[in-house]
Order: sequence, then structure tokens, then C-alpha cells
Amino acid sequence: MQFIDLKSQYVLLKESIDSNIRNVLEHGQYIMGPEVFELEKNLAEYVSTKHCVSCSSGTDALVMALLAYGVGEGDVVVTTPFTFIATAEAIKFVGAEPLFVDIDMDTFNLSPTTLERTLDEIANGKLGIHSGVCSQVSDIKAIISVDLFGLPADAAAINRIAKKYNLTVIEDAAQGFGGAINSVKSGGLSDIGCTSFFPAKPLGGYGDGGAIFTNSDEVADALKSIRVHGQGSDKYQNVRLGLTGRLDTIQAAVLLEKLRIFDGELVKRQNVAESYTQRLSTLAGIETPRIPDGYVSAWAQYTLMATDEEHRNKIMSYLKEKGIPAAIYYPIPLNEQKVFSGLGYGASDFQVSSRASRRVFSLPMHPYLKEQEIEEICKFIEEV
Ligand SMILES: *Cc1c(COP(=O)(O)O)cnc(C)c1O
Repeated sequence: MQFIDLKSQYVLLKESIDSNIRNVLEHGQYIMGPEVFELEKNLAEYVSTKHCVSCSSGTDALVMALLAYGVGEGDVVVTTPFTFIATAEAIKFVGAEPLFVDIDMDTFNLSPTTLERTLDEIANGKLGIHSGVCSQVSDIKAIISVDLFGLPADAAAINRIAKKYNLTVIEDAAQGFGGAINSVKSGGLSDIGCTSFFPAKPLGGYGDGGAIFTNSDEVADALKSIRVHGQGSDKYQNVRLGLTGRLDTIQAAVLLEKLRIFDGELVKRQNVAESYTQRLSTLAGIETPRIPDGYVSAWAQYTLMATDEEHRNKIMSYLKEKGIPAAIYYPIPLNEQKVFSGLGYGASDFQVSSRASRRVFSLPMHPYLKEQEIEEICKFIEEV
């Protein structure tokens, strides 16, 4: 059994994907070929934003979004400590400092209540645990909300709080792409949305890739410039610092085919999640994922909580013994990572994230998981 099965999907799409790749090899426009623009058009339509700017990875999407809004040295960006390293890494990479705000246990996403309280306190000169990253509220320029495990963060609340403090909201939809809140798609829930096409993400390519979504002509122009070394109107005119941030034409050719079946795959993921929840929600000591009303998860991961670390380890080792691949996302909150030790946060500063990191574990999740496999996985968990 595989944690994420990419082979079944390839078998299904083999003919069209092979033919698309062959087309690219024949026309030879490996960089910014026609497939890239066609994909951007389809993705913008899918998310219902005016622009989609494709790029080299989800991490680069975040870096480019921060650069497009002029976030850099001396600035502070708020985010969650319970996420993949790339979210906070991108903030550091542009020279800014990540300011962590704890999550809600129900959703694993940034807590709007804690976010507002933290910003209010900082505005009142109470820096508390944040004194290592921030000296005044005006240092804070943006919030990166993360759609963890595929469930969109509470965009309405986060956008409202951001407005109060004049902050840009960047949605990290690397895991959330395909999800929605009240029919508004992930990637389009805030000022700017970033996603990843890393193979294991809900919409994955056969290599690295990413995309950025915006309704602003100005931001889209800045992103297109940043994508190619900060070029101006002419190729050899450089107006800002940028990077080599393009999506390969071959990846676009692959993603075009995968996007066609994406909505069907989301339905299959939803069915897998429902089947897991139906079998596991009645087990004592196991908490199944909670999806708030009006929310659609892209089910990047199906993540459960055990009662404590010992219970989680018992389940993990039993599943391993039975040949079931399970994983822990994420075992260490970012404030406890060595790379961020300079921020001055303590190990117990974000209690909810700490507790979550000790209790969570994720089960195999992909559209091609069979009912019989789900049944077997759930039976092993029940045995523990
Ligand atoms: C995967 C991921 C990223 C980074 O995407 P890459 O394409 O691997 O660079 C960023 N944020 C989150 C939450 C992710 O899961």
C-alpha cells in the first residue's frame, strides 16, 4: 500500500500525458511555451481570479508574493507555527521575520481569535513572546494564512482582522488547492493565493511547480517581472531583484491533463475521507477531522488525533508492523526548529501547536484508495 499513489493516475492519463509531453519535445519551447499560458488561463478560470502566474514551486510562489508586495528587511509577517517549513522559510528568505500565532485545535489553522488578540496586544505595546521579532505593530506587513491538510483557513475572519491593521493576506494554498469556503475556491480567498504542484499535493505535476493567484493587474505584472530576474519591459532591462521562477513547459503540459480530471479526483478524495470518518469517528481516543459548515477540504492529508504521544506512537508502530504507511505532519512546530531558534520563541509558547504536534498522524490519502484498503487500515487502528 502507498501513502500517495501517483501510478494509478498516470496509468489512467498515460495516453494524453505522453502525447502532451511529446508535443513539447517537438515544438521545443521548453521555457514559457504555449502550454504554460494555456495552463495559467485554465487555472485562473478554475479559481475565478483575474490572473494566474505560474512559477517554479510553492515556496517560490510565497517568496514572489512577498516580493511583489515589497515585503523585506525590517518587516514582520504573521503566520502559523504548525505548517510545512516553506511557509516561514519564505518570510525569512526575503529578509523579513516570521511572527507566529497559534492555531485552533479543531481546524489546525491559524486561530482568528488568537490572531486578533496578538495584534491588539502588540498595538498596545505588549510584545510579550514576540519581542524577538517585532518592536511595534507598524513593522507587521502581511499575514500568511495556511490551508493545512487541505482545509481552507478562516479567510473571512483573517481578512477582516488584516484590514483593521492594514495588512496584506497571502493564502498559502499549497495543500488547499481544490478546497473552498462557500464556493469561493482556495487560492482566491484573500489578497493573493499561492499553491504548489509538488507531486504529492492535491494537484501535483511530475516535478516542482507552483502558481500564484491575484485580481490585481499591478501585482500580476510585478510577479511576471520577478519570475524572470526582475526584468522590465525589455528582456535585458532589469528593474528589481527577481529569480529564476518559471514553471517548465513540460510540467504545464502534464498539469493541463491532470487539471481536466481534478474535480473528479476531489470527489474521490471526499469519498475516501467520508469512509475513514464513518469507520473511525466512533472509536474512543481517536479524533477525526472536523470540516466547518460551508467549507470544502481538498483532503491533501487525512489527519487524525490520538489521545497523546504515547497513544499515537502505539498506533504508528502497529500500522508500520502491518505494512500501512502513515506519517506525522508535523512532528515539530516551527518555533521549535533549530533554524528559527534566533526568533527567541520558547518551546511552550504555542500550546495548541505543541499539543497537536504530539497527537496528530495522517493516513494514506489519494483518489485511488480502495474501500477494502480503507477497511483494513481502520481495522488495524481499532485493534490498537
Ligand atoms: C508543500 C508546501 C509548500 C511548498 O511547496 P513546494 O512546491 O514544495 O515548494 C508551502 N507551504 C505548504 C503548506 C506546503 O505544504
